[in-house]
Amino acid sequence: MAYGIMFHHFHNDFHPVGQGSLAAAQLEEMLENLQQKQTILPADEWLQRVIEGTLQADHRCLTFDDALLCQYEVALPVLQRRGLTAFWFVYSSVFFGNREWLEIYRHFRSVAFASVDHFYQAFFAATLRLLPQWQERLSSPQASGHLADFAFYSQNDRIFRYLRDELLTTALYDQLMQQLMQQQGYDPAQAARHLWMCDEQLLDLQQQGHLIGLHSFSHPTRLDRLPAAAQQQEYQRNFTHLTHLLGQSPRSMAHPCNAYNQDTLRLLREMGIQLGFRSNRLALPDRTSLEWPREDHIHLLPTAAPAA
Ligand SMILES: [Zn+2]
Repeated sequence: MAYGIMFHHFHNDFHPVGQGSLAAAQLEEMLENLQQKQTILPADEWLQRVIEGTLQADHRCLTFDDALLCQYEVALPVLQRRGLTAFWFVYSSVFFGNREWLEIYRHFRSVAFASVDHFYQAFFAATLRLLPQWQERLSSPQASGHLADFAFYSQNDRIFRYLRDELLTTALYDQLMQQLMQQQGYDPAQAARHLWMCDEQLLDLQQQGHLIGLHSFSHPTRLDRLPAAAQQQEYQRNFTHLTHLLGQSPRSMAHPCNAYNQDTLRLLREMGIQLGFRSNRLALPDRTSLEWPREDHIHLLPTAAPAA
């Protein structure tokens, strides 16, 4: 079955190495290998073929989530050299000066600790200082079996995400992270200036033939748990922002953190969105055109493991 390839982070001298991040040369090699066996379609042709129902099993497309500056500065030149276009799924809040902490925290983990496991140790220790009674929960089967669909996560990845996404309230999680950032002398305002693209860069992508699509306004990790009206607002603000900036309405989207439900699919259809992507390859028996599978680029790395 045809599917998309999902990219997130890239590194160079300026953008730090993070979990799963790619250097330009690694992307180049990955695309070279892909193109030997499969066909990477330009983004507009992929969209057209979804509408016509003419995608073939070996067809692939490239997708970049979250409007990250490292994608524009590291990955785009590689695509240009190879004459490829891609989908870029953009959440809007950061274009209005808001900070998206998920991304800032990731940057903090990458630059302030010797490895991601050093960060996890510091985070688990901070959690247990605040909530000593949680010792058992951290070593529970629920924690180590969290996100079982994503084979590339390490044990610590799973426990951390279980804590963050299931146990801690947002306020508590933020409190712990702010504490760690202060301890390490990390300045989030400084970091935020170099994490995301700006208006001109989105316009430049569009002019080069790439397609810009929806990815919600504020990138909630569990959009599926929001009431339908709040979901509507997330996507409507995202849609309005991109339509005003780009002078045309987006027709594609990707579900942030793979989180959606029937309300989401309905409101996206009502907005005229014709193509949507999930964040994994899970084969859904009654998949709609708003649920195309994607392969995480991690699975295309020769080692098939995240670079820490
Ligand atoms: Zn995202």
